[in-house]
Amino acid sequence: MIEITHLSKSFGDLRVLEDISLHINDGEIYGIIGQSGAGKSTLLRCINGLESYQEGSVKIDGQEVRSLSTKELHALQKQMGMIFQNFNLLSRLNVFDNVALPMRFAGLNPRKPENKQRILDLIELVGLSDKLKAKPRELSGGQKQRVAIARALVLNPRILLCDEATSALDPRITQGILSLLTKIRDEMGITVVVVTHQMEVVKQICERVSFLKDSRLIQEGRPEELFVMPNEDIRAFLGKIDEALPDTGRYIKLFFTENAFESEVISTMARELNVPFSICRANLEDFRGKILGSLVLNVRQADGDRVLQYLSDKNIIVEEGY
Ligand code: ADP
Ligand code: MG
Repeated sequence: MIEITHLSKSFGDLRVLEDISLHINDGEIYGIIGQSGAGKSTLLRCINGLESYQEGSVKIDGQEVRSLSTKELHALQKQMGMIFQNFNLLSRLNVFDNVALPMRFAGLNPRKPENKQRILDLIELVGLSDKLKAKPRELSGGQKQRVAIARALVLNPRILLCDEATSALDPRITQGILSLLTKIRDEMGITVVVVTHQMEVVKQICERVSFLKDSRLIQEGRPEELFVMPNEDIRAFLGKIDEALPDTGRYIKLFFTENAFESEVISTMARELNVPFSICRANLEDFRGKILGSLVLNVRQADGDRVLQYLSDKNIIVEEGY
């Protein structure tokens, strides 16, 4: 378990993290999202002890990171694998030797049968068994990140920290990497912390997420809680600008926060109330396999109250306007 309480950090006069509190459960896929410069990478580096901090506490399984001796810190860092946007592979080493590198640093011999087997198993897990001897320049971006993932896992960590791991990849390749991270969590039971500025990433794999803005944690919750009914800060972050709709009738916005089958309510309503309506905007998206989002209806002025009443009776979250 990662427990962060009232964490603050400055670089000189620059406050980079301000009173951050959050906890990450074992085996969870946890997101940290925010704009560039919000403090996400610094927060991640405080978790793995690469940065120190002035105030508050970062505890990994009850151990305060700041008060560890160098030896204890190295032991802790072995429990945490890390992957980055730019993969950080060594260009002169082939896939096998890149994955083996942390073993060499830890004084383990990668040619020893059980170590070699672990390396080969991980390379198979990430789907690169046919590339053992390939050098990084012969690999695509997605393949390079797969090598980096295998390398991050080679010392059998309990936590995998991902800093913008898919930011340099195109959307289709990103999908593959996200599925792989989910598979790793499911099969190995490790905790995955995902730092990103991409809502897509958080939506698809994170069970909970923190939104950081200007060094502060503004909101924490399930991705659907943050993004289906976004508050002003998150709307600004997502860059959602609502284009104007015609100035006739009444606009009613429905939120589907549990499952999209709720949206069947609209056709039932049309039948039961016998009111005409049009759908002006739909914003339905996939959250870890559940389709959630919002939908804007336009109804005649005179029908507005009945429609609002009907939907509230069906426990649909509604809001007038768009
Ligand atoms: P993010 O990962 O959200 O883009 P960072 O954690 O990298 O944000 O940076 C947060 C702020 O801290 C930025 O203003 C950045 O310029 C500053 N910063 C990061 N690392 C250092 C450092 N080593 N020295 C001074 N300032 C830094
Ligand atoms: Mg960063």
